[in-house]
Amino acid sequence: MPELPEVETIARQLRGLVVDRTIRDFESRWIRLTDPEPAEVVAARLRGRRITGVRRRGKFVVFDLDGGDALVVSLRMTGKLLYGVDGVDERYVRGQIHFVDGTTLRFSDTRKFGRMAVVDASALDAKGERPRPRAPLHSSLGQEPLARGFTLSWLRSLLRRRPRAAIKPLLLDQRAIAGIGNIYAIEALWRARIHPLRKAGSLRPDEIARLHEAIRWALRKGIRLGGASRRDYVDARGRQGRMQREFQVYGRAGAPCPRCGRPILRTVVAGRGTFHCPHCQRAPRSERAARAMTAAPRPRRP
Ligand SMILES: [Zn+2]
Repeated sequence: MPELPEVETIARQLRGLVVDRTIRDFESRWIRLTDPEPAEVVAARLRGRRITGVRRRGKFVVFDLDGGDALVVSLRMTGKLLYGVDGVDERYVRGQIHFVDGTTLRFSDTRKFGRMAVVDASALDAKGERPRPRAPLHSSLGQEPLARGFTLSWLRSLLRRRPRAAIKPLLLDQRAIAGIGNIYAIEALWRARIHPLRKAGSLRPDEIARLHEAIRWALRKGIRLGGASRRDYVDARGRQGRMQREFQVYGRAGAPCPRCGRPILRTVVAGRGTFHCPHCQRAPRSERAARAMTAAPRPRRP
C-alpha cells in the first residue's frame, strides 16, 4: 500500500505532467470509484476545470482545481495514477480524466479499493485537532510528519495525550500523524530502537527524540529512493521505486539485524505484520511477562 513517500513521489511527478491542463471530461468505469457520489456528479464538477497544482496530504494525492475545489485520490492498496504510460492493462483501468489537449490521466486499480472525490480544498488543511470520528478521513487528517509543525515538542505532546496507546498503532493513526504506514513505522521504530508494543506514555525523552528523528529519516529516505515497490506500486510514469532494496528490517524475518546481527523477528501488532530486532528493540515488561507465561510448562495435575 502506498505510504507518504510513494504518494509524494507520484504527486511530484504529476505536478510536472498535468498542472495547467484543463479537464475535458471524467469517465468512471467502476461504480464505486466515486462513492458516495455518483460519477456523473463528480464529472460535472471536473469538466472545464484547470489543474493548478498537485500535492500530497497524508496518503492522498490532491489535484487543486481553479475555483477552490480539489480532486482527492485515495490509492489504497493497488491504485495507480498513470500519465503517458504505454501498455496499461485496460482491464484494470477504473477511471480516466481526459484533458482538452487530448492527453489522458488514467486510474488503474486491480483490487478496486481506490476512490476519488471532489472536495472543498480548505477541508484538507484542517489538522484533526478536534476528533471527528465520522468525518471523511481526508478532512480529519493529522499532522504532516515532514511539515514544519512536526516538532519534537509536538510529538511529545501527542504521546502525552495518548499515553496508553501502543506506539506502532499510534504512528499508523492517520488522524494523529498523516502519511505513515506499516513499512515506514517499522523502519522508524527499528532506527529509534523502540519496540512496537511500547506504550506511548512509557517512552523516555531520549527515546522520543530518537523516534522524531527516525520518522523523518525513514520518510525522507523513501522519497529519495522514489518509494518502495513490493507488489504493485509504480510511480506516475509506471516505474518502480528503489526503497525496497534498502529496508533494514521490513520483510527481513530471520535475516541479521543490520545493527547487532541477531535475527529479525516477525510478529503481528494490532493486526499488521511487524518486524523488529528483539535485541535492539526491547519488549516492554508486560510483554516479556506474557511471553514467559506462555513459555512456562503447564503445572501437572496430581
Ligand atoms: Zn539488533
